[in-house]
Amino acid sequence: MHQFIDGHFRMGSGDDAKRVTPVTGEIAEIIRYANTGDVDVAVASAKRAFDDWSRWTPGERSDAIQRLATELSCRSDELAAVETAQTGKSLRLSAGFDVPGTVDNATFFAGAARHLQGLAAGEYGAGGTSMIRREAIGVVGSIAPWNYPLQMAGWKILPAIAAGNTIVLKPSELTPGTSLLFAETVKAAGIPDGVVNIVTGTGAVVGEHLVRHPDVAMVSFTGSTSVGRHIMGVASATAKRVHLELGGKAPFLVFDDADIEAAAHGAVAASVINAGQDCTAATRAYIQSSVFTEFTARVAELMNQVVLGDPADPRTDLGTLITHAHRDRVSGFVERARGYGARILAGGHAPGGELSAGAFYRPTLVVDVAQDSEIVREEIFGPVLTALPFNSDDDGIVLANDTPYGLAASAWTHDLGRSLRAGRELQSGCVWINEHIPIVSEMPHGGFKASGFGKDMSSYSLEEYTNVKHVVMNGEQTAHKTWHDIIFSKQ
Ligand code: NAD
Repeated sequence: MHQFIDGHFRMGSGDDAKRVTPVTGEIAEIIRYANTGDVDVAVASAKRAFDDWSRWTPGERSDAIQRLATELSCRSDELAAVETAQTGKSLRLSAGFDVPGTVDNATFFAGAARHLQGLAAGEYGAGGTSMIRREAIGVVGSIAPWNYPLQMAGWKILPAIAAGNTIVLKPSELTPGTSLLFAETVKAAGIPDGVVNIVTGTGAVVGEHLVRHPDVAMVSFTGSTSVGRHIMGVASATAKRVHLELGGKAPFLVFDDADIEAAAHGAVAASVINAGQDCTAATRAYIQSSVFTEFTARVAELMNQVVLGDPADPRTDLGTLITHAHRDRVSGFVERARGYGARILAGGHAPGGELSAGAFYRPTLVVDVAQDSEIVREEIFGPVLTALPFNSDDDGIVLANDTPYGLAASAWTHDLGRSLRAGRELQSGCVWINEHIPIVSEMPHGGFKASGFGKDMSSYSLEEYTNVKHVVMNGEQTAHKTWHDIIFSKQ
C-alpha cells in the first residue's frame, strides 16, 4: 500500500502504474496511485493534527523526533536496501551516504526544535513592548524528486514538523519506497496520526492538487526548474508560501596552482556520484590552460577505473540511472555533442554484455565543446562532465558564472586570494574550495538564480517553516495615546 494517511497505510483511489527496476527493466511492483480525493483526505488529516502538534512544547517535539532518529537508525539496512532497489544506486552509496545522512538530519532537527527563537523583547515605540514569535505555518505540501528519495523525505519532513507544522509529502511516483518506510518510523516513534502523511501519485494529478489546495499553507518543492516555475504559478492562485529547490549545473574551477591529483579525484567523484543525478554534481569543469591536458588525461584515466555493476554488490562503484528513458536522454546529449565535434575522452556509451539490460551509462568526459553548446548549458543529470580551458582568473570566474543556475560550485587552488575570490564571486548557494559534494546537517543547502530559493537543512530551513509574528503590548491604560494627536487634533 503506497499511501500513508492519518496514521494508516491504505490503497490509493487512482490508477495502477508499473514500477520498473532500472537494473533489469523488469516490473518490480504495481503501484495504485492516489487521486485528488485521497489528497483531500490527507490534507484534512494534517489540518486536524496541526491543532495539537503545533501546541506540543519544543521539548516534546524534540523527544519525538529523536525517537524517530533512533527508529531510522535501527532500520538502516532495510532503508539502504530499498533505496538501492528503487533507484539503482550502489548499496555503498545508500548505506554510506543516504541513510546515515538522513539519521543525522533527524538527530539535528530533534535538537533544533528546541532552538526556535524570536529576536526582540523590548520597547521600540512609546509605551509598547514588542516581542517576536516564530509560529508554525500550518499544513505544508511537499513534493520531492527521485534522485535521493530518502534524503529528500527527511529534508522536507524534519524541519517542517520540528517547527510544529504538519505535512503531506508527495514523493516521486518512481521512488515512493523509502518515504513509506520513513512513515513507518514516524508511527513507531509515536508521532501523532496526521502529522506526517504520504501520498503517492503523479505530479500532474496529485502534486498539482496539493499545490492548489486552499488548506495547504506552504508548498515546499524539490525538482526541476521547469516544474518549479509551473508550481510557483499554480501556488500564486492561493498566494501561499513557496520554497523551491531546483536544478543545477555546478562549475568546477581548477586554477593552475591546484593539486591536480586531488582535483582529478574530486572531479570524478563529484561528477559520478549517484550517476551524476545530483543537483550539486560537478558538471562543467573549467581548467586553467597550462594544466588542462594533465587534468583531463587524469580524469579520463580515473573515470575508466569506475566499476559498473549490480548496485547491491559491495564491489560496485556505480549503479544505474533512474530509468532506461533517462539513460537514453543522457546518451542523447553526448551523441549530439559528438555530432557537433566534441571529443569524448572517457565513456560516452552504455556498457554492453551482462549490463546491457540495465539503465547503465559509463562515466563520461567531454572536451572540445563551446560554452554556448547544449551539453554545457543544460542540466543533463547523468555521469557526464565537460571540460573547457580558460586563461586568466577573470575568464574562469566569468565562465563559471555563465549559467542560469546557481546551486553549487567549487574552486581548486592553494592560493588564499583565489580562494577568497571564488568564495565571494561564484554565484551559488554553496561554494567549496578544494572539495565538491559534502554537505552537513548544520549548514544550509539552497540555490541562487534559477536554482530556486529557500534553504534545506540547518536552522535556516527551520525558520523557513515558520511565520514571524510581531506582538506589541501597550501597558498604558490611557485612552489618548501620543500618536492619537494625528487623528484627534481638538483634544
Ligand atoms: P521533476 O521536476 O520532474 O519532478 C519532481 C517532483 O515534482 C516529482 O514528485 C513529480 O511527480 C512532481 N511534479 C511533476 N510535475 C508536477 C506538477 N505539474 N505539479 C506538481 N508536482 C509535479 O524532477 P525529477 O526529475 O524528479 O528530479 C530531478 C530534478 O530535481 C533535477 O532538476 C534536479 O536538479 C532537481 N533536484 C534539486 C535539488 C535541490 O536541492 N535543488 C535536489 C534534488 C533534485
